[in-house]
Amino acid sequence: RDPEVKKPAWLRQRAAQGEKYARLRESIGELKLNTVCVEAQCPNIGECWNGGGGAGGEGDGIATATIMVLGDTCTRGCRFCAVKTSNKPPPPDPLEPLNTALAVASWGVDYVVLTSVDRDDLPDGGSSHFVQTVKALKELKPGILVECLTSDFRGDLEAVSSLANSGLDVYAHNIETVRSLQRIVRDPRAGYDQSLAVLKHAKSCREGMITKSSIMLGLGETDEEVRQTMMDLRAIGVDILTLGQYLQPTERHLTVREYVTPEKFQFWKEYGESVGFRYVASGPLVRSSYRAGELFVQNLVR
Ligand code: SF4
Ligand code: SF4
Repeated sequence: RDPEVKKPAWLRQRAAQGEKYARLRESIGELKLNTVCVEAQCPNIGECWNGGGGAGGEGDGIATATIMVLGDTCTRGCRFCAVKTSNKPPPPDPLEPLNTALAVASWGVDYVVLTSVDRDDLPDGGSSHFVQTVKALKELKPGILVECLTSDFRGDLEAVSSLANSGLDVYAHNIETVRSLQRIVRDPRAGYDQSLAVLKHAKSCREGMITKSSIMLGLGETDEEVRQTMMDLRAIGVDILTLGQYLQPTERHLTVREYVTPEKFQFWKEYGESVGFRYVASGPLVRSSYRAGELFVQNLVR
């Protein structure tokens, strides 16, 4: 077991406030929506739901939320992730795409991230379920921006194509860590080259496609490896990158090797933007969907 590394003060959670946050919090009560923001007690909920500008402040007003589809049970078991696992999760609810779209459209967020567990048990890995959700959502609320944060679909590029052509605005898939740590950190069915192939293919599916990925820091990677991963993502045209601190969810998960300082995260943000990412969100508490709507509009639309 690695020696305990003490948790620093900058990881302390902030209480969420703000008007838009309060409105969304109240109105979600009646909707059957499984948001990662609430379920995972995400520390960024104030910033994301208010549309930025700090935990209680005003940003661009583009509120972001992350919704889980395809159930709560994953067919993989990554060593950084606390999600329930099973080889045979219950089948997906065929009404979920429409019901999710109806609920999200009525709720009041401007940017939604649709994500899921990995569903290696389904012939298309769940791609068609995402496609139906995106289509229904865009029909019900044409102005909403939709990001899909998906699995690698076991490298099935047809599944990637159909999702990339569904009408989504951002195609996100996380590479999670540097090449040398893939086998330690991710389920053996995932892999560095497979993730790069998915992102590269998604980018090629449509003129102007926006792709996005994320790296966790603090797992024992070197600076040179982080730099190399960024270059590999840039080489296949990835537009947006997020970097956050790995936090150990339970005793059974990988231990944190290092708490990366806020200054170092800022360094990586500047470095990433200097090598061509359209924007980099980088900070100890940053998660893949952190202020996604607000940052998308600020950096890619204006
Ligand atoms: Fe929700 Fe993602 Fe923001 Fe967390 S970072 S509050 S999960 S949108
Ligand atoms: Fe968690 Fe995703 Fe890995 Fe499943 S594939 S264990 S949801 S990180």
